[in-house]
Amino acid sequence: SDYRLSKIDKEETTCGFCAVGCRFEMWGKDGDSLGVVPVDDPDDAPANNFSTCVKGKFGHEFANSKQRVTEPMVRNDDGELEPTTWDEALDYVAERFTEIQEDHGIDSLGCLASSKGSNEEAYLVQKFARQVLGTKNIDNCARLCHSSTVAALQQTLGYGAMTNRINEDIGEADAYLISGSNTTESHPVLATRIKQNVREGADLVVFDPRKIGIAEHADQYTRTNPGYDVAWLNGLIRYIIEHDLHDEDFIERNTKNFEEVREKVQAFTPEKVEELAGVSPEELASAAETLAEADSVVFGWAMGMTQQSHGTENLIAMADLALVLGQVGKPGAGLSPFRGQNNVQGGGGDMGTLPGSLPGYQNPADDDVGEKFADAWGERPPEEPGLKVPEMLAEAHAGNLRGMYVVGENPALSEPDIQHAGEALADMEFLVVQDIFMTETADHADVVLPAATSPEKHGTFTNTERRIQRVRPTSEPPGKARQDWEITQALARRLGYDWDYDHPREVMDEINSLAPIYGGVTYDRLEEGEEHGLQWPCWDENHEGTPYLYDYEEGNFNFEDGKARFVPADGGHPGEIPDEEYPLTLTSGRVLYHWHTGQITRRVEGLMSHVGESFVEVNPETAEKLGIADGEYVRVESRRGDIVVKAQVTERVGPGTLFIPMHFAAGAVNKLTGETFDPTAGIPEYKVSSVRVEVLGPE
Ligand code: SF4
Repeated sequence: SDYRLSKIDKEETTCGFCAVGCRFEMWGKDGDSLGVVPVDDPDDAPANNFSTCVKGKFGHEFANSKQRVTEPMVRNDDGELEPTTWDEALDYVAERFTEIQEDHGIDSLGCLASSKGSNEEAYLVQKFARQVLGTKNIDNCARLCHSSTVAALQQTLGYGAMTNRINEDIGEADAYLISGSNTTESHPVLATRIKQNVREGADLVVFDPRKIGIAEHADQYTRTNPGYDVAWLNGLIRYIIEHDLHDEDFIERNTKNFEEVREKVQAFTPEKVEELAGVSPEELASAAETLAEADSVVFGWAMGMTQQSHGTENLIAMADLALVLGQVGKPGAGLSPFRGQNNVQGGGGDMGTLPGSLPGYQNPADDDVGEKFADAWGERPPEEPGLKVPEMLAEAHAGNLRGMYVVGENPALSEPDIQHAGEALADMEFLVVQDIFMTETADHADVVLPAATSPEKHGTFTNTERRIQRVRPTSEPPGKARQDWEITQALARRLGYDWDYDHPREVMDEINSLAPIYGGVTYDRLEEGEEHGLQWPCWDENHEGTPYLYDYEEGNFNFEDGKARFVPADGGHPGEIPDEEYPLTLTSGRVLYHWHTGQITRRVEGLMSHVGESFVEVNPETAEKLGIADGEYVRVESRRGDIVVKAQVTERVGPGTLFIPMHFAAGAVNKLTGETFDPTAGIPEYKVSSVRVEVLGPE
């Protein structure tokens, strides 16, 4: 057995599912992933120490799936995808991209980068877009999850990121306000830290339309009406100021524009808040008192807050609330967006896979920045911001965007109103999809390029607390599948650019030379002595990284004068409100056992055995009114389309509200969601749609 054990590859690596960024030792043998065990030293796993959740522990089996794409494929004259050689596939992509740009202009192409791949891979996709294709159209799926968080925090605090740490701060706060985060199911290990701390005496206040798992542990759970979060947040601020519970010294010392917010919130009287958000004056007062009495407060949220047509306003109001209470830049306190995918902070933001934002959130229109990139790349990246993902699909629909390079994303299922998105992808003149499975998007592709997944690659991920950590392989990509960075490099070379990286570490060297917030991040540091990772900003090789983005005493907000900005937030109504025709409100979200569009978790038997199909949660009162029995099938219909799903009659949702998870292709909730967007961030309003229900019966 010693001999057999010696053949097992063991590597300390980072989980490829969510942005908590758990670390563990992964075992692999003969090219396959075997399992995970805790790391030897818990300090090397700062977010989780020894814990992992069911996805982290068992979810890696997908990598061994027989359904992996193992060969490059090109669509033939009969419309079938046919296996081919890498040379042919890459030549064909280069030829078609060149033709399209010659015929329709540089910006007739767009790229969609992945938030699941590594930082190095995301960096190369945006470089491919900007340098090789010269297009300004580069975006990623963070558009659909936390783009409103980023926009709000940039306006108020300076950086669009979590201000604090998971274990030491979120795990040690005196009180929490959590809203729009199904924490126990979406970020299980982080939720465990919160639950432990609550058991030891911390106060937990949860405001959410659904009585989700974390609410079971709350001192106060308040059900809110979907789509009206600005109302209760502004109501809290009003109460706090009116009762002199605000931190006057902090406000005076470290902020600007407080008076504008004080004035704005006057309209959000307890009566108004109750009318809009469904929060009673007593609930509002009790939450305000709890938060104001605590020495340290963590404000946690996820997509329940962000995916609304007022997503940016919601998070501005959240930031205003934290500033009013002076709960930023000190131990146990801070604004904590719980980011979704494993590398959405890095690959979906820090690496510049965004229209109008270069790596390190640098402005391409700034001449010094532009010159720096021109020196490194030989040409200046486009200065104008390009199209966001939903705009790319709209332009594709209109025939203006002719081709796309989609890496590790599945817009055919993740976009709102997927019939429309599917038509746009189907109509596109030339679609290249680089992925590990045949996704719903790959079904529309002209070329499919087989890629690698996290247990098969070297690289780094940046977790939700801005911590950059190493990822290492224990298995091999199957068949002819290749590392994503190698594929992007091969395409760049086909298009005449002499990219010559031998290893992702060389890509990181380029990143740290161009993005100052990653200035001191090197593989040497992450491998020798700093296995626990580095939190950005990490300015140079001697900088230890930044646990707190700001400082309670000094401010140090990311503006020239170091002061945070209060910004008055206004909400109004969601894009769609229930009426006679569509009298119910639908919201969507996740379940513990699945992941995003389910491309990975739907292939893991152990996870499917827990939740194997889509469903709709219906409140008992609504069920009775409509004659729906638990377990019966119903047709849920919106103005966009309809789906058939099984009903779960449950108090988790309130009367008049329905919930459907987002992970399934059969019963896909995004057939129902609409195309109302947050005007600042461009995030779709997945969380509020008007629907009606028809009962079909038990089969
Ligand atoms: Fe992976 Fe997130 Fe689970 Fe940790 S909490 S093991 S990072 S899925």
